[in-house]
Amino acid sequence: MKAAIFKGPYELTVDEYSLPKLDKSEVLIKVDVCGLCGTDFHIYSGEAPSRPPIIPGHEYVGTIVEKDKNAEGISIGDHVAIDPNIYCGECYYCRQGKINFCTNLKALGVTRHGGFAEYSIVPSSQVYLLPKDLPFKSAAFAEPLSCCVHGMDQASIRLGESVGIIGGGTIGLTMLQLVKISGAGKIILIEPVKSKREIAARLGADYTFDPNSEDIFAQIAELTSGGPDIIIECVGKSEAANLALKLTKKGGRIVVFGLSEKKDTMEVNLQNFFHKELEIKGSLLNPFTFGRSVELLATKKVNVEQFNPVQFNLDRLQDVLKGQRDFSVIKYQVSPN
Ligand SMILES: [Zn+2]
Ligand SMILES: [Zn+2]
Repeated sequence: MKAAIFKGPYELTVDEYSLPKLDKSEVLIKVDVCGLCGTDFHIYSGEAPSRPPIIPGHEYVGTIVEKDKNAEGISIGDHVAIDPNIYCGECYYCRQGKINFCTNLKALGVTRHGGFAEYSIVPSSQVYLLPKDLPFKSAAFAEPLSCCVHGMDQASIRLGESVGIIGGGTIGLTMLQLVKISGAGKIILIEPVKSKREIAARLGADYTFDPNSEDIFAQIAELTSGGPDIIIECVGKSEAANLALKLTKKGGRIVVFGLSEKKDTMEVNLQNFFHKELEIKGSLLNPFTFGRSVELLATKKVNVEQFNPVQFNLDRLQDVLKGQRDFSVIKYQVSPN
């Protein structure tokens, strides 16, 4: 089969790869769509814990075409989404129920072969059944959505609270919809790209702001009696995290969701932190949230059609990773077959 293989920093080629035989409880998936995300760029540049050679791609969906006899509860022909994160179940954290901190964590598309390929071998424990009327290109958002669901658990929004979302990419626009479902009061989204602010407005943001425009602090403070109760940072850059610190109301909470680069930092002024009684939380991966994510897609509570994913085949993947991309595109997806 054809697969994109990461061979080292800035080196990815599309090669023939021969699949091994299925191991116990494994299934073979014919990949329909695999989303491209920030993590793939980190892998491509060598920043992620990914040992080449490896087939990247961790946001994928497809059809079961073969299964080991021990793989139960699924049948040939089923449409499925894949939770890429494989927890060991035995380490200290797994035994505490904090599986996202698993010290033996493996991930399809990061430490094991993933979905930028025509086929992928997956342990049946990672497979989630999809309704057949859910288009694959929508279902492929299940993985990023499952991470957002954990971010929402971390934010624990109460009815009527004001929420600021920094960033209007896939994550920010997904978070926006979850924030809306959660019963927030005023929802404010901050994003420099105009077309993304327009989508945010259509998806239910009460106010959108360009971070580079003047007096956004004064305007947001006025709308929210001093600042949003909660800020969800969905960019993964120092500027965005520091903007969150400045914007949040006294007694407010910040969820740092975006995956940053190693050099990025948040500059917390201790007096400011003290006087504001700030609460700052991170959000890592998708512990026990994948099933809920599939449910939100299946019941159309989250609208991903608005994201209008742009699809291309395996051969173009390296060009996009190299930077040949349009920043107004919300989501790129690889369609390997
Ligand atoms: Zn991802
Ligand atoms: Zn573990």
